[in-house]
Amino acid sequence: MDLKSLYTDMLLQESNNKANIRELSSPTFLELGHNPSCGDEITLQIEMNGKTIKDASFTGEGCAISRASTSMMIDLIKGKDIYEAKELTEKFIGMIKKEVEVDDDLIEALGDTVVLENVSNMPARVKCAVLAWHTLANIIDKNFEK
Ligand SMILES: [Zn+2]
Repeated sequence: MDLKSLYTDMLLQESNNKANIRELSSPTFLELGHNPSCGDEITLQIEMNGKTIKDASFTGEGCAISRASTSMMIDLIKGKDIYEAKELTEKFIGMIKKEVEVDDDLIEALGDTVVLENVSNMPARVKCAVLAWHTLANIIDKNFEK
């Protein structure tokens, strides 16, 4: 199996992972993310404990790439400080837009989400991959000072 089909497999598997698709009982933030070019519409739910992301989930509809990206992002940011999460959104969006180099540090910071790097070669799907990350960045920008 070559690396590309391995990535595709991981993406498909993750897009069917329902663990992060649920309503939080007491979310601190709810933010809608909409990608009209594909029809993805997700609501990101975040529960904070001070400045730490205590829990996160999403609801809504989206294509396989947007669901996989959202689910992997949630796994990555849970338990993290809000400013650290903001840094990760910048790294991920930079990776998808080919603005940052994919080196060991980036791979370590972004974990499994680096499998989405392939999407950067599919311009029509870039918005699907970054949707949840932009949604998270919106929450952080609106509610936390830099
Ligand atoms: Zn999509």
